[in-house]
Amino acid sequence: MSSRWVRNGLIYLIIVVIVVALFYNVYSASTGPTSVPITTVAKDVREGRVSKILVSGDDLTITRTSGVEVVSRKEPGADITDVLTNLGVTQEMLNNITIEVQTPSEWGGWLAILSSFLPLLLIGGLLLFMMRQAQSGNSQALSFGKSRARMFTGDQPTVTFDDVAGVVEAKQELEEVVEFLQEPEKFTALGARIPKGVLMLGPPGCGKTLMARAVAGEAEVPFFSISGSEFVEMFVGVGASRVRDLFEQAKRNSPCIVFVDEIDAVGRHRGAGLGGSHDEREQTLNQILVEMDGFDTDTNVIVMAATNRPDILDPALLRPGRFDRRVILDLPDMNGRNDILKIHAKGKPLAEEVNLKVIAKQTPGFSGADIENLLNEAAILAARRDKKSISMEELQEAVERVIAGPERKSRLIRDEEKEIIAHHEAGHALVMASLPGCDPVHKVSIVSRGMALGYTMPLPEDDRYLMQRSRFQDELAGLLGGRAAEELIFDDITTGASNDLERATKLARRMVTEYGMSDKLGPLTFGRKEELVFLGREIGEQRNYSEEVAKVIDEEVRRFINQAHETALRVLSENKDKLVKLAQRLIEVETLEGPDLEAMFA
Ligand code: ADP
Ligand code: MG
Ligand code: ZN
Repeated sequence: MSSRWVRNGLIYLIIVVIVVALFYNVYSASTGPTSVPITTVAKDVREGRVSKILVSGDDLTITRTSGVEVVSRKEPGADITDVLTNLGVTQEMLNNITIEVQTPSEWGGWLAILSSFLPLLLIGGLLLFMMRQAQSGNSQALSFGKSRARMFTGDQPTVTFDDVAGVVEAKQELEEVVEFLQEPEKFTALGARIPKGVLMLGPPGCGKTLMARAVAGEAEVPFFSISGSEFVEMFVGVGASRVRDLFEQAKRNSPCIVFVDEIDAVGRHRGAGLGGSHDEREQTLNQILVEMDGFDTDTNVIVMAATNRPDILDPALLRPGRFDRRVILDLPDMNGRNDILKIHAKGKPLAEEVNLKVIAKQTPGFSGADIENLLNEAAILAARRDKKSISMEELQEAVERVIAGPERKSRLIRDEEKEIIAHHEAGHALVMASLPGCDPVHKVSIVSRGMALGYTMPLPEDDRYLMQRSRFQDELAGLLGGRAAEELIFDDITTGASNDLERATKLARRMVTEYGMSDKLGPLTFGRKEELVFLGREIGEQRNYSEEVAKVIDEEVRRFINQAHETALRVLSENKDKLVKLAQRLIEVETLEGPDLEAMFA
């Protein structure tokens, strides 16, 4: 310790001395003899006010007859008498003054050079010193190339596999990975190669990061976690250097797991992007590939990565020997949602009558994150109503908030408009309830919510992975039911259907161009999707079909829409009395659901 203190003390002392010296220098320079231009010197000589000129190199020290000293400089290398003569000083005047020429000593020259370089040297030294200090002191200041990975040792597991629900297969796969690390002999004895990489794929909010944390908690081996974007920095080469550092650390701690979250930040197709082929990201990716290839079979390091954009990943990352295991975490099904609801309901007092199964049924397409959000919203609503526990009412309300945004009861709607909205929603509901291909209607409301003036909520009976054309056609009719009701009742149309129309058109177009559901065009797909290289987002569609086909596509889309429109009109005109009754009831009570609603359809 003492030697270190002495060294540091010495360095600080030197810094203080230098600072003082610099100040002194500036101070003394400002109080020394005033400096005048050479022309002033010549004028003084002409007017006989100078007694002596001391020449030292190019520096002049002039002593006036009054005894005052001033300094000046002449042209480098020129003779002082020539300079003065050129400025109109006669030989006679020169004779009156003493000119003393001092040859500058060797030392003086060196000193001058040294003094001009000294500050530079000092600054350089100081920087070097700071750098050493920063690196030895474990400070972040100058360690750009160091990996920022956080290491978990699993001593205090915060998340376990029990906290992840609804992704049974993914859980199995990862439990196996954990086993690989804990008992590698079991697998190597049978000649199995331990997987090098596990890639977790799935839409956002489906528990990829959560799953990785569960692995960290369960594995009982060190777990390094870093996000893909943390490799990317302002400086070129930093990413690759961080990767090297990360893997070095990992190898020292093997067996262990390295987890790179959101790997698409660096793992994008090489050669994509506007930066040309030598993009910084590419170098980082290359380094990851090199490191993964560099593992020996007995280095027990498993690389886990997560992404929701597998389509933009570089194919090299996906080949066997790298991320040779893919684990898919998809949106949960009904049972999954029920389990996730149970997990997140822990620690939240639920009322007796709460049936989470019903909520799970009402939330198709919700991700784990949405469900967590839903329960949180429900808890907040219950607190706002000063309740001691969360009841079904709050849960239902929260589902709608998550789907459509908060209710806007304060929005004032004129009676006239209310009537239109009521008939519009009643139209949707009635068409949906009458067609076999539509999901049963769960709720109709004319309270505006988010951007919508009213809404009709269908409730799928179970999760569906395949859709028939007839279902799509019924769905289109349901979407157009609102507009059809307006036409039928008011003989006029409003802007209220714009969102319905947009959705219907999109669906019809997909039926034709993606699902090959048009008889006229047959089982073909049309158009190639274009992606924005940096955002990875679709920006448009490239046409790979002729003008004639484009025309047929438009015709077919129109045909699907027209058919649906006719169906909706037919259903509504057959049930006009029901439509009017439903709309009147909606105006009275604003929201209809459950048995009340079913009674209206009967
Ligand atoms: P991502 O897949 O985008 O990384 P996260 O793992 O960050 O999603 O999930 C966000 C949150 O959603 C988690 O913290 C967790 O609370 C909740 N969640 C998501 N999926 C599940 C699941 N399968 N089981 C339980 N909770 C989940
Ligand atoms: Mg994540
Ligand atoms: Zn509508």
